[in-house]
Amino acid sequence: MKLILLGPPGAGKGTQAVRIAARLGIAHISTGDMLRAEIRNDTPLGRMAKAILDKGELVSDDVIIGMVKNRIAMSDCARGFLFDGFPRTVAQAEALETITQIDHVINIEVQLNRLIDRISSRRMCPDCGGTYHVSQYPDGVCPCGGKLYQRDDDREETVKNRLTVYEQKTAPLIAFYQKQGNLFTVNGDASIDQVELEISEKLGA
Ligand code: ADP
Ligand code: ADP
Ligand code: ZN
Repeated sequence: MKLILLGPPGAGKGTQAVRIAARLGIAHISTGDMLRAEIRNDTPLGRMAKAILDKGELVSDDVIIGMVKNRIAMSDCARGFLFDGFPRTVAQAEALETITQIDHVINIEVQLNRLIDRISSRRMCPDCGGTYHVSQYPDGVCPCGGKLYQRDDDREETVKNRLTVYEQKTAPLIAFYQKQGNLFTVNGDASIDQVELEISEKLGA
């Protein structure tokens, strides 16, 4: 199965992606996580991408498409994959069509005021990749022992720009996939378990 998770920053894409990919036994492909790994490893791509992420802008379509093409050729993608944070522009979606065929697009819808709260409360684990709400582990330590941190681009000034960029560049993908007839929308305001259930039911999985 080949899936796309669509939704604004903070909608819960990463949280759901981990669960759905595990349930279906398919690869979880987060272009955001891939870019953050490049930045951590201080690669040429990472050095180029850092300034863009820090401003909340988008990395160029060519770079992202090249990255995704390489990624889906890897052996863990043979049974299928779930894109989280890709495509983010119509140009990326059009390029994807020339590479592979997507079965379903899951659109997670969340009220704007909740998005801002979720993003500013988000904490990440550098060791296991876990994503949490700050209230889950107020002492800042992941169950795996990792020291939780806040993403640089989760600061308030950057968040506002990311939401604007989402509206301008990514939201048009909803109509793009609606026209193709393979998109369904889930209520992302519900609890994490409830959202997972709605996605699973709609996938028939
Ligand atoms: P979120 O899950 O909060 O929406 P991501 O981790 O998906 O954020 O992405 C973080 C940043 O990485 C984006 O703001 C953007 O700068 C860059 N990025 C990630 N995926 C893409 C993509 N498909 N195209 C362009 N830029 C991307
Ligand atoms: P995205 O990948 O779309 O940017 P995340 O999955 O990283 O979103 O979730 C953003 C924040 O909101 C995280 O701190 C996560 O723990 C929290 N979160 C995700 N889904 C829900 C939900 N359904 N209800 C409440 N909080 C959620
Ligand atoms: Zn951890």
